[in-house]
Amino acid sequence: MSETLPRCGPGLRLSSVRAIARLAITALFALQPVAAQEVAGLPCADVDKECAQQAMKHHAAGRIDTWRTMLSVPVAERIGPAPPYLVEYLNLDNILNGYPERPRAATLDAGLLADVRGAIADLPAAIWNLFGDRLVGVYFVDGLGGTGYTDYVFDAQGKPAKGFVVLDAAVLAGQRANAWATWKENTPFAPGAGYRLDARIEADDNDNRRNAIQYILLHELGHVLSIGADIHPLWNLSPKEIGSTARYPFFNLSWIVDREADKYRSRFDANFPQRTSTVYYFGAKLAAADMAATYASLKLTNFPSLYAATAPGDDFAESFASYVHVVLMQRPWQITIRHEGKPVASLRACWGEPRCAEKHKLLEQLVGRAS
Ligand SMILES: [Zn+2]
Repeated sequence: MSETLPRCGPGLRLSSVRAIARLAITALFALQPVAAQEVAGLPCADVDKECAQQAMKHHAAGRIDTWRTMLSVPVAERIGPAPPYLVEYLNLDNILNGYPERPRAATLDAGLLADVRGAIADLPAAIWNLFGDRLVGVYFVDGLGGTGYTDYVFDAQGKPAKGFVVLDAAVLAGQRANAWATWKENTPFAPGAGYRLDARIEADDNDNRRNAIQYILLHELGHVLSIGADIHPLWNLSPKEIGSTARYPFFNLSWIVDREADKYRSRFDANFPQRTSTVYYFGAKLAAADMAATYASLKLTNFPSLYAATAPGDDFAESFASYVHVVLMQRPWQITIRHEGKPVASLRACWGEPRCAEKHKLLEQLVGRAS
């Protein structure tokens, strides 16, 4: 089973992440059970996974020629409803993974579109310029089965060269930055009386939808930035298929390949027993009483967030998002855990701390240092 495509936050399909993302949606939209909907014109029957897998190979959405027109416009204008071939690809992917959602192209209302444009416009120009050649666009659907989704666009030689980002408009519509971050960071823990975890990524004045969208988008852009950049092994390969990892310096700071078990393991697993039980969005495996111990273990690692510790792809996407947010944009990032109302543990962004110094250096080289 390959490390599946990034579908993050209640969205990136990196194996668990995919299920995770999807579940986040379900959790978020518990009021609206997702019914299987036949989408007209799909090349595969609604449950035909084999057909879907075949149809996704060499699919138009993954071919660079398909995006030539999009690539001819400035990157800030590559935003809009998902084109039909991308909607088809997403539906095939949901069939392949047994998800009931059938994504449909979404037209953003003026307010949401303004927030998306604003979220992008607020990014440091040096960051956004990194994507001119890599990002074929940010596209919107409803009913993704996740919040965000990123996947490869292959060049004529079949090598991953660019990426597209898909965001679920219906999910984004109701978000605010701190509520979204707090909700996300609570999902690995089963609720427990007296325990409370709060995430803060914006000051009160900036705690709005635009900044929720910006942080969600930064994570997906992290996945796009990894394309063709030797950051970590390709997400469409199984760990056992990975050869030497010598050319992935960022990956090697935290991960090793267990080819026998066909898994990635972190270099900290001996002192971080909670890591393999850390499942976001989808069926918490940790108890609320584990919150403080889990974060105490996390502080012994070089992962900037607990989500980063779930998979190599999300390690980089979280590192990139938090580095840009905290170091380049001087925004807050803090997790606070309380028991019976008293703070018992907290985690601040690790940039500037010895535990993240090597990742900090690589990110500076990749995206530049604070001006
Ligand atoms: Zn991700």
